[in-house]
Amino acid sequence: MEKKDLALYIHIPYCVKKCDYCDFLSGPAGSEEQAYYVRVLQKEIRSFETISSIYKVRTVFFGGGTPSILEDRHITRIMEQLRTSYDIDGEAEISIECNPGTLSTDKLKTYRSLGINRLSLGLQSANDDELRCLGRIHTWNDFKENFILARRLGFDNINVDLMSGIPGQTMDTWRETLEKVTELEPDHISAYSLIIEKGTPFYDRYSTPEGRKYLPGERDDRLMYHYTGTYLAERGYERYEISNYARPGYECRHNTVYWRMGDYLGFGLGASSFLEGKRFTNTSDRDEYWDSAKGSYQRFRALEKQSEKATMEEYMFLGLRTLAGIRPAQFEEKFRRPMQEVYGGVIDRLCTGGFLENSDGALRLTDKGIDVSNRVLSEFLLD
Ligand code: SF4
Repeated sequence: MEKKDLALYIHIPYCVKKCDYCDFLSGPAGSEEQAYYVRVLQKEIRSFETISSIYKVRTVFFGGGTPSILEDRHITRIMEQLRTSYDIDGEAEISIECNPGTLSTDKLKTYRSLGINRLSLGLQSANDDELRCLGRIHTWNDFKENFILARRLGFDNINVDLMSGIPGQTMDTWRETLEKVTELEPDHISAYSLIIEKGTPFYDRYSTPEGRKYLPGERDDRLMYHYTGTYLAERGYERYEISNYARPGYECRHNTVYWRMGDYLGFGLGASSFLEGKRFTNTSDRDEYWDSAKGSYQRFRALEKQSEKATMEEYMFLGLRTLAGIRPAQFEEKFRRPMQEVYGGVIDRLCTGGFLENSDGALRLTDKGIDVSNRVLSEFLLD
């Protein structure tokens, strides 16, 4: 029997220091805690290994946090555990998120020797004032040195994360960031707008009427977004998801699994999984996670399947974020119901309003729809 595809996500919740805008599950920790966390992770990875008889792993993603903060021996132990417990495809895409300032020649060589073949570098901005404002630990030059080193050591698939909407950012500084980054010719660029999250220092600073004056307005944000698409397209990067751009053949296969609602298992503190129609998320409480990691698979089996209504809504939200859009035939194959029967009224209304288009056999957002994507996607909630 042919095995089904599976993606694996490994969450490393550690960073050198917390950035001022970040509300991810991450923070600084000593080397003892990190070593203990890796041992617990190994246990959790083992607890699901019986599924390896029916699944083949096509992608692995180390995210965080800053996975590259871990000592090489820890990444080695995790990779060895994954290879012992699962059937990993020889051609699998294996990515690791890294932050400038935490990389070295030895670490990069170790990653290569472990079969890690894709780096995702968190730059955010090429402007040192903006980096300081965000509370990042690195400068543009740190990033550039790391990027050049990674290329020299043979990494031929590198993503760079960028951020627009930074306090004080202007169209000129954003343009300069895009120019400096594309000069290095990365293979993939993710460009997200800053969101001011509750509970962060940025929320205290910039959520007040006075603070908001420092943020680029909605109009500037849209101008930056449109400029990004045009600028990157001229340099050979195709937008394939609302915030992601790639040279042909370098689309992130792991993220595509999420957007297509494929099966994935997440390991680590707060990590989410979607397997056999069941969605489940690990606790975000460290002490609870230590205790719970052992019995993960048992707990998974006791879970209820996600309702069809919730799955359909999620399928539409995620699929419409991609530029490939949603094919009615695939919807029907997945849900055994025509898409028109479930969403006909909404689709007709949004097409008439110019927010959606039906072309080449797929339904996708138009540029007008992308500008108000949250509002458009919320139309797909079912009563
Ligand atoms: S490096 Fe990333 S995960 Fe860590 S604090 Fe900064 S934004 Fe958050």
